[in-house]
Amino acid sequence: MRPAAGWRCRGLSRRTDERAGEPEGTARSHGRAGVEGTPQRPPRPAVGGVEPLPRQRGGPCAQGGRGGTPQRAREHRRGVEGTGVSAGHPDRSQAWALARAALDGLPGGGLNIAYEAVDRHVVHGDGDVVALRCLAADGAVQEHTYRDLREHTNRFAAVLDGLGVKPGGAVFTLLGRGWETHVSALGTLKHASVFCPLFAAFGPEPVRQRMLMGRARVLVTTRELYRRRIAGLRDQLPELAEVLLVDADPTTVEPGTRSWHDLMATADADYTIPWTDPESVALLHFTSGTTGRPKGALHVHDAVVAHHATAGHALGLRRGDVFWCTADPGWVTGTSYGIIAPLTHGATVVVDAGDFDARRWYGVLADQRVSVWYTAPTALRMLMRSGAELAGRYDLSALRHVASVGEPLNAEAVLWAQETFRRPVLDNWWQTETGAIMVSNAPGDEVRPGSMGRPEPGVEVALLERGTDGRPVLSDGQVVEVSDPRQVGELALRPGWPSMFRGYLDDEERYRRCFIGGWYCSGDLARRDVDGYYWFVGRGDDVIKSAGHLIGPFEVESALMEHPAVVEAGVIGKPDPVAGELVKAFVTLRPGFDADEQLRRELVAFGRRRLGSVAPREIVFDQHLPHTRSGKVMRRLLKARELGLPEGDVSTLERQ
Ligand code: ATP
Ligand code: MG
Repeated sequence: MRPAAGWRCRGLSRRTDERAGEPEGTARSHGRAGVEGTPQRPPRPAVGGVEPLPRQRGGPCAQGGRGGTPQRAREHRRGVEGTGVSAGHPDRSQAWALARAALDGLPGGGLNIAYEAVDRHVVHGDGDVVALRCLAADGAVQEHTYRDLREHTNRFAAVLDGLGVKPGGAVFTLLGRGWETHVSALGTLKHASVFCPLFAAFGPEPVRQRMLMGRARVLVTTRELYRRRIAGLRDQLPELAEVLLVDADPTTVEPGTRSWHDLMATADADYTIPWTDPESVALLHFTSGTTGRPKGALHVHDAVVAHHATAGHALGLRRGDVFWCTADPGWVTGTSYGIIAPLTHGATVVVDAGDFDARRWYGVLADQRVSVWYTAPTALRMLMRSGAELAGRYDLSALRHVASVGEPLNAEAVLWAQETFRRPVLDNWWQTETGAIMVSNAPGDEVRPGSMGRPEPGVEVALLERGTDGRPVLSDGQVVEVSDPRQVGELALRPGWPSMFRGYLDDEERYRRCFIGGWYCSGDLARRDVDGYYWFVGRGDDVIKSAGHLIGPFEVESALMEHPAVVEAGVIGKPDPVAGELVKAFVTLRPGFDADEQLRRELVAFGRRRLGSVAPREIVFDQHLPHTRSGKVMRRLLKARELGLPEGDVSTLERQ
């Protein structure tokens, strides 16, 4: 790759398209064919004298693999066995080539995320479509069309020029949900600089650490966040040249900062996006820190190909949709699917500044006529806590489906939400490192509650056998795949998808360790059923070894959540001299249930009936399970507390 100026990203030196052409080795492909759901429009006239790229049509992508019936899926697998390629789609890279062809590319060549998300729609006559519908906490609504967004992002790119920022510089945001985040992100990308969002509720130390690691040149934030988080550490951030405040005018700016709006007002509304190498670094995202110190994953402009394709396929997004992604803009989901992907489809994106509140959220879904909703298991579980009756008071008829990501979505929650919303509830799996959805229950597919679904088109997934050291086993330099549906393996992806991270910030060694025998190893464990659906078992580090059994905490947690009293559970292995580890569960109860000895005994017995020998021996009640700020149960913290060990990096812990 060609890292942007000033970026120490040495993780990978080959280009994606070269990797995509790698020999397939012994691995079997399980990638699905077809990108239905990606809007297909007639070819467009040449723009600026440049012939448009061929548009994506049905072609080979429309065949096979997406029928949704178990039989179709089995046929798909049969085509796979022994051939080394997926049935109906002989070439993974072809899937991405077709996805790439659905985008325009810059008029003068190159590929820039912001052009695909914004300018393209204006060029094609959709400038009046509402791109952002922003809901303030007090209910005020502000709309920005694609034409507005083009102008705002042009201005922000020009602001960066005016401040002397060179392409490749790092622009950070420390902001809540609001249109200024979208404009700062997309304007930075237009400028060919690197965008890095931070979670607005981070304390000063996590902010300092990440800005230092990412060599932040510009920070966009608010007056209060600046005063509380940054002002005191400004001298520790020598590379931070500019701080722009979105809620200050020239008379209220803090010393050493500038007014974002003031700069925007005087900046040029015309901006020519520089030629952008698809392989230049565009995004820096820190992981959630669930398993330890957060890592900085670097993504390139080519990622937009995967954002667009997966939003069309896994989220079923089309033109005219009203899309709401509840992820905070500080995490990868907030950028990939809160900003970029829906805009590449010309959708109207709802940006809600309010915090979670069941009534408010149902109100947003109903009043804004949201057609596709992308949320997280914690949110669905919180709605579950507030009961189905509340949902029934709102008109959710515009909704086609609900999608979820971030942590395991228990079958119980899927079934509850499907019954309550009367719509499919689609779990999907991906990571900061993958940049986009990799495995999904896609619209039109049979939903298997509790399963993450099947690989996206162009994505090749394998389950790898792990040795006693927890690393995938190599035999003659080749990985060993798990083939028995009962067996657990490490979920691995064949490199070559466009949004694959191109490195960990300043940690080349760690990046290299992610790849074994030609596969990217995710660190997550899963099973695959005979129809090719993947079932999450747990993170490699969380898996419990008890009396010779390998126990996935998710399985135990899901079983406990089938009990009417349990709304959430966190399960860990507690050291035991005989069994090695014993299963211990921390359980959060629904309102109305008493945390008493009788219920505890009932839950132990319930677990035993459901799970047999892998049931938790110990159950304790805990109404405040530790979560990351992106909503995941921090099992490593439960375990550290259990063992009286230091808590490690807790910068992403949600404080209650
Ligand atoms: P860190 O890598 O710093 O420990 P993290 O892995 O939580 O943090 P993210 O990249 O935000 O950081 O999260 C990706 C992880 O979230 C996945 O590896 C997986 O463990 C979990 N995850 C995401 N989606 C799902 C899903 N649908 N089902 C189960 N787990 C999921
Ligand atoms: Mg991770």
